[in-house]
Amino acid sequence: MIADADLVRTGLSRSVRKSEMAAGRGCDVGSLIRMDAVRAERAVRDLLEALGEDPDREGLRDTPSRVVRMYGELLAGLETDPAEHLSRTFDEPYDEIVLLRDIEFSSLCEHHLLPFMGRAHLAYLPNDRVVGLSKLARTVEAFARRPQVQERMTAQIADALMEHLNAKGVLAIVESEHLCMKVRGVNQPNSHMVTSAVRGVFKTDPAARVEALALINKPR
Ligand SMILES: [Zn+2]
Repeated sequence: MIADADLVRTGLSRSVRKSEMAAGRGCDVGSLIRMDAVRAERAVRDLLEALGEDPDREGLRDTPSRVVRMYGELLAGLETDPAEHLSRTFDEPYDEIVLLRDIEFSSLCEHHLLPFMGRAHLAYLPNDRVVGLSKLARTVEAFARRPQVQERMTAQIADALMEHLNAKGVLAIVESEHLCMKVRGVNQPNSHMVTSAVRGVFKTDPAARVEALALINKPR
């Protein structure tokens, strides 16, 4: 995983504004991603050459800059602190499960730099503080838009909800399709990966866990 410190060390010769990029699915995750765009463009050009391509032919001429803008978008979560979203909680004496399911995301497998995409389902049991549902979606986006592995992403989301909402329990389930499984290697185009992270009361109380899972699996 690329730490912020590594990005800073690359020299920041140019910044790519998030606003220059396509808005994705409408989740604005951070306004600016810092990267050494000149160096990144050179690397893409070098890669094309190393692969036996002519980076100056018409179709490839703008590819390095396009690829760099794309990574700026795919990795925008590196500039986002999920605590910002999750710290805006409000008092609500509601002590039943809150669930947001089918939160769509796309992430980048850090082993192959190929996307994996799917849906996250987040359930939490509040501790007198609740958070706006959009903040849950933004939290998923913030952790997805980084070089990731799905297992870590699922755990990071659950831990962030536990920590910043002071929740009594969190159940996070992520299901996704990995392009690195679909188009290469074992070539399993129909495989899905499912990960879960269970925290607090959902870990200690089987009945609470069953209730949360039933809500997640309720027919759409
Ligand atoms: Zn992969």
